Amino acid sequence: MKGVNKLRNSVDCLTGLIPYDPKYLPADTFLSANENTDDIPAQVRALIMERLEKLPFNRYPDPLANNLRDAIAQANGLHRENVLIGNGGDELLFDIALAWGGPNRKLLNLPPTFSVYAHNAVLCHTEIVNIARKDDLCIDEPAVLDRLSQCDIDYVVITSPNNPTGDVASRAFIEQVLEASDALVLADEAYCEFSGASVVDMIAQHKNLVVLRTFSKAYSLAGLRLGYVFAQAEVINELCKVRQPYSVDAISQTIGLSVFESRQLFQARIETTIEERKKLYEALCKIPGLKVYPSEANYILFRVDQAESIWRALFEKGILIRDFSRSPGLTDCLRVTVGSAQENEAFLKALIASLEEKELV
Ligand code: PMP
Repeated sequence: MKGVNKLRNSVDCLTGLIPYDPKYLPADTFLSANENTDDIPAQVRALIMERLEKLPFNRYPDPLANNLRDAIAQANGLHRENVLIGNGGDELLFDIALAWGGPNRKLLNLPPTFSVYAHNAVLCHTEIVNIARKDDLCIDEPAVLDRLSQCDIDYVVITSPNNPTGDVASRAFIEQVLEASDALVLADEAYCEFSGASVVDMIAQHKNLVVLRTFSKAYSLAGLRLGYVFAQAEVINELCKVRQPYSVDAISQTIGLSVFESRQLFQARIETTIEERKKLYEALCKIPGLKVYPSEANYILFRVDQAESIWRALFEKGILIRDFSRSPGLTDCLRVTVGSAQENEAFLKALIASLEEKELV
């Protein structure tokens, strides 16, 4: 067949696959993407600008961002070989899916959770074994351990705190998962600064553990693309084989290092977010008809009747939150990011007004 204005099909696994859509829409108040409400402190911005002035743009960056690797490793009592920097946590999630997934391989996924894990698995022709969370949206621990004992899972993702449910996986459970099989265990700690819980200290004892972090949330750098993983050198070596060369540009490396060196300046705002989360949670719990899930992250998931129309009513009032009501296991669920005190108040006011309009309170 001659190729006159014809297009050969793309790879089969793309059929029916929907591109990731953060559902960004113009609004006055953005509480939909779990970003930090505050930009980086002025003094950190000044330091960055000074360093960027001197940056050669004509040269390729250090492919592995070794200065940043060293700083992050040292702060965590580890070595450069135990850290890999990526173009956002998202790149590293894809690297893990490439290196530990593939045809005839299996991901153990614990939905509802971050949709990117399953999406990447589909792209890599990896079979997805789902163990649904329980009614309270927490992990079905016995079912996970039981499934792992079959020893055919290649990698498992434990998101802690989980997105969008907000719950933390217990250390004891993660340890049991690590010991249940030789599967690579990815502890996705993108939001761990808001929970204070991490398993990074288990890296030395566990060959099969990889811990993911990001600069996008607690460190206010969602506009950059910068994340990192911790693991033993053997895991990092495998990830280096699949990663894009130069994926972390020199500007991101410079900004990342400046922010990391200034990380104590972010501590007070992390604490403010935690206080605001508590206030927001308590206020939401007082609203009749809402089911609110406790959260240790910078967002709160809640169930409400007519969720989609409540989401729309909020949007019409200038407030953008995230609608999960059509996602499997999350019927009637909406997720709101913890913003500043003013943003949270504006959200609560608009939510109550929207519920009144629909005669739901
Ligand atoms: N993991 C989880 C659970 C997330 O929610 C996100 C961001 N939405 C990421 C990883 C990736 O973050 P980033 O690419 O911004 O570093």
